[in-house]
Amino acid sequence: MKIRVLGCSGAIAAGYKTTAFLLDDDVLIDAGTGVGDLDLSALARVDHVLLSHSHLDHVLGLPLLADSVLRLRAQAGRPPIQVHALAPTLEALRQHLFNGVIWPDFTRLPSAERPVLTLQPFEVGQRLDLGGRMIEVLSAAHTVPACGFAVDTGAARDHAHWVYTGDTGPNPLLWQRLAQLRVSHLVIETAFSDEEQQLAAISRHLCPAALGRELAQLQGEPHIHITHIKPGEVEAVMAEIAALPGAHRMAALRAGQLIEL
Ligand SMILES: [Zn+2]
Ligand SMILES: [Zn+2]
Repeated sequence: MKIRVLGCSGAIAAGYKTTAFLLDDDVLIDAGTGVGDLDLSALARVDHVLLSHSHLDHVLGLPLLADSVLRLRAQAGRPPIQVHALAPTLEALRQHLFNGVIWPDFTRLPSAERPVLTLQPFEVGQRLDLGGRMIEVLSAAHTVPACGFAVDTGAARDHAHWVYTGDTGPNPLLWQRLAQLRVSHLVIETAFSDEEQQLAAISRHLCPAALGRELAQLQGEPHIHITHIKPGEVEAVMAEIAALPGAHRMAALRAGQLIEL
């Protein structure tokens, strides 16, 4: 298994894309602007999209993806792309995105019988089986219903997990669950610098000081990848993170990075 980082920034600028990860070549984890880096044939191979929450920086690639691949998938007789998310996230997509005003309802196009997208609700704690790959839905604590994901790398890898926190503030339930899993990679957000810690608290994101308190609850020594930093703030945030006590292996996640699992 492999994870390709298509986007991992908290906002956009030239060279900075918002959150999207490609698991192998058919599972998209979040659908931020990084999705636009896939060529048309790669886009058409996406059969599953997992969404961590409804915020625009994580979903805006989805309506555009549907439009891009609709004809190709229909011609090839491919099934609908399954969009998996918490029920309130799917309801937000229906009401606010695929509402015929912001974008057409691609859950009924090209036809209601064979649409390009279908919406599949999941719950925190559920384990999804996507073609034999097991992915657990993890809790997150954000301003809207949100979750993270743990990808099980399988028996051959001793069930090590690649974990993505999603957007989250302090999240004790996550550490309780991760204490029961073998974690080889932890992709954790740090959306704000310490100077903006008030804003981080209100918007339920982490800043480096809060990250330090979170990581104090982490067992084991996974590779830690910092994600969701805003363009222009990467060096400042990583300098604050480097000054944290503790001996974790930490680096800023980069768009284009390939993580072999
Ligand atoms: Zn968010
Ligand atoms: Zn976000």
